[in-house]
Amino acid sequence: MTTTPLLPNIVAGKAQMGQGPGTPLFDPVLGTELVRVSREGLDLASAFAFAREQGGAALRALSYRERAGLLGAIGQVLQAKRDDYYAIATANSGTVTRDSAVDIDGGIFTIGQYAKWGDKLGDARALLDGERIRLGKDPAFQSQHVLTPTRGLALFINAFNFPSWGLWEKAAPALLSGVPVVVKPGTPTAWLTQRMVQDVVEAGVLPAGALSVICGSSAGLLDALQPFDVLSFTGSAGTAAQIRGHAAIAERSVRCNIEADSLNSALLDPNAAAGDEAFNLFVNEVVREMTVKSGQKCTAIRRAFVPRALYDAAAQAIGAKLAKISVGNPRHEAVRMGALVSRAQFDGVQEGLAQLLAEATPLYDGRAQALVDADPAVAACAMPVLLGTSDPVKARVLHDVEVFGPVSTLMPYDSDAQAFELIRRGQGSLVASVYSADPAFVARAALELADSHGRVHAISPDVASLHTGHGNVMPHSLHGGPGRAGGGEELGGLRALGFYHRRSAVQASTAALDALAASATALTY
Ligand code: NAP
Repeated sequence: MTTTPLLPNIVAGKAQMGQGPGTPLFDPVLGTELVRVSREGLDLASAFAFAREQGGAALRALSYRERAGLLGAIGQVLQAKRDDYYAIATANSGTVTRDSAVDIDGGIFTIGQYAKWGDKLGDARALLDGERIRLGKDPAFQSQHVLTPTRGLALFINAFNFPSWGLWEKAAPALLSGVPVVVKPGTPTAWLTQRMVQDVVEAGVLPAGALSVICGSSAGLLDALQPFDVLSFTGSAGTAAQIRGHAAIAERSVRCNIEADSLNSALLDPNAAAGDEAFNLFVNEVVREMTVKSGQKCTAIRRAFVPRALYDAAAQAIGAKLAKISVGNPRHEAVRMGALVSRAQFDGVQEGLAQLLAEATPLYDGRAQALVDADPAVAACAMPVLLGTSDPVKARVLHDVEVFGPVSTLMPYDSDAQAFELIRRGQGSLVASVYSADPAFVARAALELADSHGRVHAISPDVASLHTGHGNVMPHSLHGGPGRAGGGEELGGLRALGFYHRRSAVQASTAALDALAASATALTY
């Protein structure tokens, strides 16, 4: 008999229970059932209609500054309940406090940023995109591009690894734009998303229908989308391919942003020396990216490139640091790295590792280490493994298979051109980081890698204590990547508003454009 509580969905401005026993969510360390989710029996068509008609209309009636105020109020609600969110993250995501912070405080920080940026847009109801353009000899008839909020809803289908940040990094620009949000979190960790939405809705800081959460099956969600809705998907390349083929996108032209998986790289300067500052910064960042959230970050370093002469030294330095990472129950104070989100993910990591091992050998293998305060037969705790190959040019799988856990592959390169070429074999990634004391090399690497990466993060000794981290997504900078990474774009300051607005060219007299400009503001980045 099931005894754990069923979480309500929050739609049409109120809590609505799904039918049936629901899907259980587990503690990935203890293996215990925590809560259940179900959306069986929900009327999606009316839930979406309520969001569009009630939530959307109420949001669009406000100015950017007023909606920025709503974001500030959301931030306050979440801040007041942070302790609850940390407890849910420990139980349901199996993360140590430092890793929970990336998700929870990262989400709250992002909302705060958009509240500040939105306030500067003032009392406008629309955005001006660029200058007026003369259409003929007489300047009295001109064209002005305007951006107005789409009259649909924003559906977010999110991955399991960031139940908080994954919601708020999208909801902040959507709500600021005046577009209501419906989020469908990844099921294994849906609890934190559900609780945050429930808290915000119950606090009454948003108009009814502005924010909804639907937990459980994704079936039918895309069928309910209409032409002015927008869809943002974060998850695996396989699911992304199914979504792209759905009639909502293929036939109804629902605007769609895809953030998929990515074989991100780190590159050490060809003139670095073992133990110098660039080398140490590289080693630290590879270790950090392998272990933060147990490597369950879309931006994590999966491939690390070093000049061939430094291959052994880098392997030893990274291995020595990984050996100090204690893995196990995040409630134990000695533990530095918690669990993967589920036993299914644990199995997936072992399968992926086996694929990579066909082309690589372990340079550091933590799998022989004991877990701290956790049962290896139950806990979804994966040990870090650094792999290596001396022949990255011949490798195929290593440039193609993303293992979503604490696994990375070290690869030697023989020339700069070869390193850039190998990095590009990821077929488009979210981020590449460069470690160098030479500004000229950083500049060259950045321009070589920019077209295949959403972000190039360059770390030199002069910014050693200032940089924001290879894997940390700052709302100021673009997040997304071409090709395999999904081809999407998110964040990047006020650039993010573009996805939730429609651009139209208004061709009119100077007098009419002056009247229009009175209720609009120029969008500058
Ligand atoms: P996933 O299995 O593709 O699931 C992602 C979301 O899609 C979940 O909410 C899932 O619901 C839903 N879903 C599954 N099948 C669907 C379908 N046919 N139609 C519509 N929705 C469907 O991915 P995941 O395992 O949760 O996440 C891990 C992956 O996400 C990794 O590959 C990682 O690289 C990627 N990721 C990318 C980014 C980025 O910004 N690029 C960020 C985070 C994660 P259920 O959970 O109910 O199945």
